[in-house]
Amino acid sequence: YVAKKEHNTSKVYTASMNDVTKREQLLESSMLQALELGQFMLYYQPKVEVATGRIYGAEALIRWSHPELGMVSPLDFIPIAEKTGFIIPLGEWVLFTACQQMKEWERMGLPQLSVSVNMSMIQFQQKQIVHTIERILTEAGIRPEQLELEITESIFMDNAEHTLTILHELKQLGVKLSLDDFGTGYSSLSYLQNIPLHTLKLDKSFINGIVDDFKKQMIFKSVIVIAHNLNLNVVTEGVETQEELEIICGHQCDAIQGYIYSPPVPAERFAQLFIEHNKNG
Ligand code: C2E
Ligand code: MG
Ligand code: MG
Ligand code: MG
Repeated sequence: YVAKKEHNTSKVYTASMNDVTKREQLLESSMLQALELGQFMLYYQPKVEVATGRIYGAEALIRWSHPELGMVSPLDFIPIAEKTGFIIPLGEWVLFTACQQMKEWERMGLPQLSVSVNMSMIQFQQKQIVHTIERILTEAGIRPEQLELEITESIFMDNAEHTLTILHELKQLGVKLSLDDFGTGYSSLSYLQNIPLHTLKLDKSFINGIVDDFKKQMIFKSVIVIAHNLNLNVVTEGVETQEELEIICGHQCDAIQGYIYSPPVPAERFAQLFIEHNKNG
Protein backbone atom coordinates (compact mmCIF):
# COMPACT_ATOMS: atom_id res chain seq x y z
CA TYR A 1 0.00 0.00 0.00
CA VAL A 2 0.95 3.57 -0.66
CA ALA A 3 0.83 4.34 3.05
CA LYS A 4 3.66 1.97 3.80
CA LYS A 5 5.88 2.98 0.91
CA GLU A 6 5.64 6.69 1.64
CA HIS A 7 6.45 6.20 5.27
CA ASN A 8 10.24 6.28 5.10
CA THR A 9 10.60 9.28 2.80
CA SER A 10 8.02 11.44 4.51
CA LYS A 11 9.45 10.92 7.97
CA VAL A 12 12.34 13.27 7.17
CA TYR A 13 10.03 16.26 7.15
CA THR A 14 8.33 15.48 10.43
CA ALA A 15 10.24 18.06 12.47
CA SER A 16 8.91 20.99 10.47
CA MET A 17 5.33 19.86 10.44
CA ASN A 18 2.55 21.11 12.68
CA ASP A 19 0.80 18.84 15.15
CA VAL A 20 -2.17 18.08 12.93
CA THR A 21 0.03 16.95 10.07
CA LYS A 22 2.17 14.92 12.46
CA ARG A 23 -0.90 13.21 13.80
CA GLU A 24 -2.13 12.44 10.29
CA GLN A 25 1.26 11.09 9.38
CA LEU A 26 1.26 8.86 12.43
CA LEU A 27 -2.22 7.58 11.63
CA GLU A 28 -1.31 6.97 8.02
CA SER A 29 1.88 5.09 8.81
CA SER A 30 0.37 2.90 11.53
CA MET A 31 -2.88 2.05 9.75
CA LEU A 32 -1.82 -1.07 7.88
CA GLN A 33 -0.26 -2.56 10.97
CA ALA A 34 -3.30 -1.63 13.01
CA LEU A 35 -5.45 -3.95 10.93
CA GLU A 36 -2.98 -6.80 11.40
CA LEU A 37 -2.73 -6.12 15.13
CA GLY A 38 -6.48 -6.09 15.57
CA GLN A 39 -6.69 -2.47 16.72
CA PHE A 40 -9.85 -1.78 14.72
CA MET A 41 -13.22 -2.64 16.20
CA LEU A 42 -16.81 -2.23 15.21
CA TYR A 43 -19.26 -0.58 17.56
CA TYR A 44 -22.99 -0.96 16.99
CA GLN A 45 -25.68 1.64 17.48
CA PRO A 46 -29.26 0.37 17.85
CA LYS A 47 -31.82 1.25 15.19
CA VAL A 48 -35.20 1.53 16.91
CA GLU A 49 -38.54 1.13 15.14
CA VAL A 50 -40.87 3.96 16.13
CA ALA A 51 -44.15 2.02 15.77
CA THR A 52 -43.15 -0.78 18.15
CA GLY A 53 -40.31 0.80 20.12
CA ARG A 54 -38.22 -2.27 19.35
CA ILE A 55 -34.58 -2.52 18.32
CA TYR A 56 -34.58 -4.15 14.88
CA GLY A 57 -30.95 -3.74 13.95
CA ALA A 58 -27.80 -1.68 14.25
CA GLU A 59 -25.41 0.54 12.38
CA ALA A 60 -21.81 -0.69 12.47
CA LEU A 61 -19.37 2.14 13.19
CA ILE A 62 -15.64 1.63 13.09
CA ARG A 63 -13.35 2.51 15.99
CA TRP A 64 -9.56 2.51 16.19
CA SER A 65 -7.95 1.89 19.52
CA HIS A 66 -4.51 3.38 18.87
CA PRO A 67 -1.70 2.46 21.31
CA GLU A 68 -0.41 6.07 21.48
CA LEU A 69 -3.42 8.19 20.57
CA GLY A 70 -6.20 6.29 22.32
CA MET A 71 -9.60 6.04 20.65
CA VAL A 72 -9.41 7.66 17.21
CA SER A 73 -12.59 8.85 15.49
CA PRO A 74 -13.44 7.53 12.02
CA LEU A 75 -13.83 11.17 11.00
CA ASP A 76 -10.06 11.44 11.50
CA PHE A 77 -8.84 8.26 9.83
CA ILE A 78 -11.41 7.36 7.14
CA PRO A 79 -10.38 10.34 4.96
CA ILE A 80 -6.73 9.24 5.25
CA ALA A 81 -7.64 5.66 4.40
CA GLU A 82 -9.55 6.95 1.36
CA LYS A 83 -6.57 8.99 0.22
CA THR A 84 -4.09 6.10 0.48
CA GLY A 85 -6.38 3.38 -0.85
CA PHE A 86 -6.25 1.54 2.46
CA ILE A 87 -10.05 1.94 2.62
CA ILE A 88 -10.30 -1.05 0.26
CA PRO A 89 -8.93 -3.72 2.65
CA LEU A 90 -10.33 -1.81 5.64
CA GLY A 91 -13.79 -1.57 4.08
CA GLU A 92 -13.70 -5.27 3.32
CA TRP A 93 -12.75 -5.99 6.93
CA VAL A 94 -15.73 -3.91 8.09
CA LEU A 95 -18.15 -5.79 5.83
CA PHE A 96 -16.72 -9.16 6.84
CA THR A 97 -16.76 -8.37 10.56
CA ALA A 98 -20.30 -6.97 10.52
CA CYS A 99 -21.62 -10.02 8.63
CA GLN A 100 -19.85 -12.45 10.97
CA GLN A 101 -21.32 -10.54 13.91
CA MET A 102 -24.85 -10.86 12.54
CA LYS A 103 -24.36 -14.60 12.33
CA GLU A 104 -22.92 -14.70 15.84
CA TRP A 105 -25.96 -12.85 17.25
CA GLU A 106 -28.20 -15.32 15.46
CA ARG A 107 -26.30 -18.20 17.08
CA MET A 108 -26.82 -16.51 20.46
CA GLY A 109 -30.56 -16.63 19.86
CA LEU A 110 -31.12 -13.07 18.71
CA PRO A 111 -33.40 -12.87 15.68
CA GLN A 112 -32.07 -11.99 12.24
CA LEU A 113 -31.08 -8.37 12.57
CA SER A 114 -30.62 -5.67 9.96
CA VAL A 115 -27.09 -4.31 10.13
CA SER A 116 -25.97 -1.19 8.27
CA VAL A 117 -22.43 -0.70 7.05
CA ASN A 118 -21.01 2.61 5.83
CA MET A 119 -19.46 2.48 2.39
CA SER A 120 -16.87 4.82 0.95
CA MET A 121 -17.04 6.07 -2.62
CA ILE A 122 -13.63 4.47 -3.28
CA GLN A 123 -15.13 1.03 -2.64
CA PHE A 124 -17.59 1.56 -5.49
CA GLN A 125 -14.82 2.31 -7.95
CA GLN A 126 -13.81 -1.31 -7.59
CA LYS A 127 -15.18 -3.53 -10.33
CA GLN A 128 -15.41 -6.58 -8.10
CA ILE A 129 -17.26 -4.89 -5.23
CA VAL A 130 -20.50 -6.78 -5.95
CA HIS A 131 -18.56 -10.04 -6.08
CA THR A 132 -16.76 -9.25 -2.83
CA ILE A 133 -20.02 -8.52 -1.04
CA GLU A 134 -21.64 -11.67 -2.41
CA ARG A 135 -18.67 -13.74 -1.21
CA ILE A 136 -18.76 -12.20 2.27
CA LEU A 137 -22.51 -12.85 2.59
CA THR A 138 -22.05 -16.47 1.54
CA GLU A 139 -19.10 -17.03 3.88
CA ALA A 140 -20.99 -15.59 6.82
CA GLY A 141 -24.18 -17.42 5.88
CA ILE A 142 -26.52 -14.49 6.20
CA ARG A 143 -29.35 -13.39 3.95
CA PRO A 144 -28.54 -10.42 1.68
CA GLU A 145 -31.65 -8.61 3.00
CA GLN A 146 -30.01 -8.41 6.42
CA LEU A 147 -27.22 -6.22 5.10
CA GLU A 148 -27.86 -2.55 4.48
CA LEU A 149 -25.18 -0.50 2.75
CA GLU A 150 -25.07 3.19 3.66
CA ILE A 151 -23.95 5.43 0.87
CA THR A 152 -23.71 9.21 0.64
CA GLU A 153 -24.23 11.42 -2.38
CA SER A 154 -20.43 11.77 -2.62
CA ILE A 155 -20.29 8.37 -4.33
CA PHE A 156 -21.68 10.03 -7.45
CA MET A 157 -18.90 12.62 -7.68
CA ASP A 158 -16.85 10.22 -9.74
CA ASN A 159 -18.18 8.10 -12.61
CA ALA A 160 -21.83 8.32 -11.61
CA GLU A 161 -23.02 5.96 -14.32
CA HIS A 162 -20.70 3.15 -13.23
CA THR A 163 -21.76 3.67 -9.61
CA LEU A 164 -25.42 3.49 -10.49
CA THR A 165 -24.88 0.23 -12.37
CA ILE A 166 -23.22 -1.26 -9.30
CA LEU A 167 -26.04 -0.10 -7.05
CA HIS A 168 -28.56 -1.81 -9.31
CA GLU A 169 -26.50 -5.02 -9.19
CA LEU A 170 -26.46 -4.85 -5.40
CA LYS A 171 -30.20 -4.38 -5.31
CA GLN A 172 -30.50 -7.39 -7.60
CA LEU A 173 -28.41 -9.34 -5.11
CA GLY A 174 -30.97 -8.46 -2.43
CA VAL A 175 -28.81 -6.11 -0.37
CA LYS A 176 -30.56 -2.97 0.89
CA LEU A 177 -29.28 0.51 0.18
CA SER A 178 -29.70 3.58 2.32
CA LEU A 179 -28.80 7.16 1.58
CA ASP A 180 -26.90 8.51 4.59
CA ASP A 181 -26.51 12.10 5.80
CA PHE A 182 -29.47 13.39 3.82
CA GLY A 183 -29.92 17.07 4.63
CA THR A 184 -26.22 17.86 4.37
CA GLY A 185 -24.54 18.66 1.05
CA TYR A 186 -26.86 19.18 -1.91
CA SER A 187 -29.45 16.58 -0.92
CA SER A 188 -30.84 16.76 -4.41
CA LEU A 189 -34.18 15.07 -4.86
CA SER A 190 -32.86 13.52 -8.07
CA TYR A 191 -30.91 11.07 -5.89
CA LEU A 192 -34.20 9.82 -4.51
CA GLN A 193 -35.45 9.37 -8.04
CA ASN A 194 -32.50 7.52 -9.52
CA ILE A 195 -30.96 5.34 -6.83
CA PRO A 196 -32.63 2.00 -6.00
CA LEU A 197 -32.96 2.99 -2.34
CA HIS A 198 -34.65 1.25 0.55
CA THR A 199 -33.99 3.79 3.29
CA LEU A 200 -33.42 7.50 3.66
CA LYS A 201 -31.35 8.55 6.66
CA LEU A 202 -32.00 12.09 7.80
CA ASP A 203 -28.88 13.71 9.18
CA LYS A 204 -28.71 15.08 12.70
CA SER A 205 -28.60 18.61 11.27
CA PHE A 206 -32.26 18.10 10.27
CA ILE A 207 -33.36 17.95 13.87
CA ASN A 208 -30.77 20.23 15.48
CA GLY A 209 -32.89 23.01 16.98
CA ILE A 210 -36.13 21.53 15.58
CA VAL A 211 -37.94 21.83 18.90
CA ASP A 212 -38.16 25.65 18.71
CA ASP A 213 -38.16 26.03 14.94
CA PHE A 214 -41.51 25.72 13.17
CA LYS A 215 -39.99 25.96 9.67
CA LYS A 216 -37.61 23.13 10.47
CA GLN A 217 -40.55 21.03 11.64
CA MET A 218 -42.40 21.69 8.37
CA ILE A 219 -39.35 20.76 6.29
CA PHE A 220 -38.89 17.59 8.32
CA LYS A 221 -42.56 16.70 7.94
CA SER A 222 -42.50 17.36 4.18
CA VAL A 223 -39.37 15.32 3.54
CA ILE A 224 -40.94 12.36 5.30
CA VAL A 225 -44.03 12.68 3.11
CA ILE A 226 -41.87 12.72 -0.03
CA ALA A 227 -39.85 9.73 1.16
CA HIS A 228 -42.96 7.73 2.02
CA ASN A 229 -44.55 8.52 -1.33
CA LEU A 230 -41.43 7.05 -2.90
CA ASN A 231 -41.78 3.95 -0.71
CA LEU A 232 -38.71 4.73 1.35
CA ASN A 233 -38.17 3.88 4.96
CA VAL A 234 -37.10 6.95 6.97
CA VAL A 235 -34.53 6.83 9.76
CA THR A 236 -33.73 9.94 11.78
CA GLU A 237 -30.18 10.12 13.12
CA GLY A 238 -28.85 11.90 16.18
CA VAL A 239 -31.98 12.03 18.32
CA GLU A 240 -30.91 13.07 21.81
CA THR A 241 -33.89 14.45 23.74
CA GLN A 242 -37.46 13.48 24.59
CA GLU A 243 -38.75 16.70 23.00
CA GLU A 244 -37.05 15.85 19.71
CA LEU A 245 -38.41 12.33 19.92
CA GLU A 246 -41.99 13.56 20.34
CA ILE A 247 -41.78 15.81 17.29
CA ILE A 248 -40.20 13.08 15.22
CA CYS A 249 -42.80 10.50 16.22
CA GLY A 250 -45.54 13.01 15.43
CA HIS A 251 -44.38 13.09 11.82
CA GLN A 252 -44.45 9.35 11.10
CA CYS A 253 -40.72 8.79 10.92
CA ASP A 254 -40.15 5.00 10.78
CA ALA A 255 -37.02 4.55 12.86
CA ILE A 256 -34.59 6.35 15.10
CA GLN A 257 -30.93 6.20 15.91
CA GLY A 258 -29.56 8.40 18.64
CA TYR A 259 -28.13 8.85 22.09
CA ILE A 260 -31.68 8.95 23.47
CA TYR A 261 -31.63 5.15 23.12
CA SER A 262 -27.93 4.41 23.01
CA PRO A 263 -24.58 5.58 21.63
CA PRO A 264 -22.65 3.07 19.52
CA VAL A 265 -21.51 0.21 21.81
CA PRO A 266 -19.33 -2.92 21.54
CA ALA A 267 -21.03 -6.05 20.13
CA GLU A 268 -21.47 -7.75 23.53
CA ARG A 269 -23.13 -4.68 24.97
CA PHE A 270 -25.40 -4.43 21.95
CA ALA A 271 -26.65 -7.97 22.55
CA GLN A 272 -27.43 -7.09 26.19
CA LEU A 273 -29.21 -3.90 25.14
CA PHE A 274 -31.22 -5.82 22.59
CA ILE A 275 -32.41 -8.36 25.14
CA GLU A 276 -33.14 -5.81 27.90
CA HIS A 277 -34.83 -3.32 25.61
CA ASN A 278 -36.97 -5.67 23.54
CA LYS A 279 -38.36 -7.69 26.46
CA ASN A 280 -40.16 -4.58 27.76
CA GLY A 281 -41.10 -3.30 24.30
P1 C2E B 1 -22.58 8.36 10.04
O1 C2E B 1 -22.59 7.17 9.18
O2 C2E B 1 -23.55 9.43 9.70
O3 C2E B 1 -22.82 7.82 11.51
C1 C2E B 1 -23.55 8.50 12.50
C2 C2E B 1 -22.64 9.22 13.46
O4 C2E B 1 -23.43 9.96 14.39
C3 C2E B 1 -21.78 8.29 14.31
O5 C2E B 1 -20.53 8.94 14.55
C4 C2E B 1 -22.58 8.19 15.59
O6 C2E B 1 -21.81 7.85 16.72
C5 C2E B 1 -23.10 9.59 15.71
N1 C2E B 1 -24.33 9.69 16.51
C6 C2E B 1 -25.32 8.78 16.62
N2 C2E B 1 -26.30 9.23 17.43
C7 C2E B 1 -25.94 10.45 17.85
C8 C2E B 1 -26.56 11.43 18.72
O7 C2E B 1 -27.64 11.27 19.26
N3 C2E B 1 -25.87 12.60 18.90
C9 C2E B 1 -24.65 12.84 18.31
N4 C2E B 1 -24.06 14.00 18.56
N5 C2E B 1 -24.06 11.93 17.49
C10 C2E B 1 -24.69 10.76 17.26
P2 C2E B 1 -19.12 8.18 14.41
O8 C2E B 1 -19.26 6.77 14.91
O9 C2E B 1 -18.09 9.04 15.00
O10 C2E B 1 -18.90 8.09 12.85
C11 C2E B 1 -18.70 9.25 12.09
C12 C2E B 1 -18.77 8.96 10.62
O11 C2E B 1 -17.63 8.17 10.21
C13 C2E B 1 -19.97 8.16 10.17
O12 C2E B 1 -21.10 9.01 10.07
C14 C2E B 1 -19.50 7.61 8.85
O13 C2E B 1 -19.65 8.58 7.83
C15 C2E B 1 -18.02 7.39 9.10
N6 C2E B 1 -17.80 5.95 9.40
C16 C2E B 1 -17.93 5.28 10.55
N7 C2E B 1 -17.64 3.97 10.40
C17 C2E B 1 -17.31 3.80 9.09
C18 C2E B 1 -16.90 2.67 8.30
O14 C2E B 1 -16.85 1.52 8.76
N8 C2E B 1 -16.62 2.91 6.97
C19 C2E B 1 -16.72 4.16 6.43
N9 C2E B 1 -16.42 4.31 5.12
N10 C2E B 1 -17.11 5.24 7.14
C20 C2E B 1 -17.40 5.07 8.45
MG1 MG C 1 -23.95 5.95 8.47
MG1 MG D 1 -25.25 9.92 8.87
MG1 MG E 1 -21.68 9.82 7.22
